[in-house]
Amino acid sequence: MLIEHKVCYVPGTRIISNLYKQPIFLSIMITYKQLCFRCKKNYVLVSGRNKFPQCYECQKKEMNKEIKDKKMKKFFDIPEEFYKENAFLRNIKVYYLRTGELSEKQIEAFKKTVNNLKKEKK
Ligand SMILES: [Zn+2]
Repeated sequence: MLIEHKVCYVPGTRIISNLYKQPIFLSIMITYKQLCFRCKKNYVLVSGRNKFPQCYECQKKEMNKEIKDKKMKKFFDIPEEFYKENAFLRNIKVYYLRTGELSEKQIEAFKKTVNNLKKEKK
């Protein structure tokens, strides 16, 4: 269900100059609210395609499992509110807890998202 959607430009997106008649590349991220697929009570803010969005409440239990790897523990040590408001960060953490690994791309995307959230808070 699409209740509200906003279009925002991802910070750091490179806009190629049209001086040389090159196309302008803009990556657009659309975020919208979707009903949690598990409890069907809370809305989840999702960006991109997410068929099975879950709210913070539903993922909390799974997310609070102990991380044994010290490096990863530090990696996931971000303000709890970030997890509350960002479904992507929750999914990465849950994915790590399930599989015990993350790809470099996932790590990069996680860091980028955290940095963007930090900027927003300022
Ligand atoms: Zn839920």
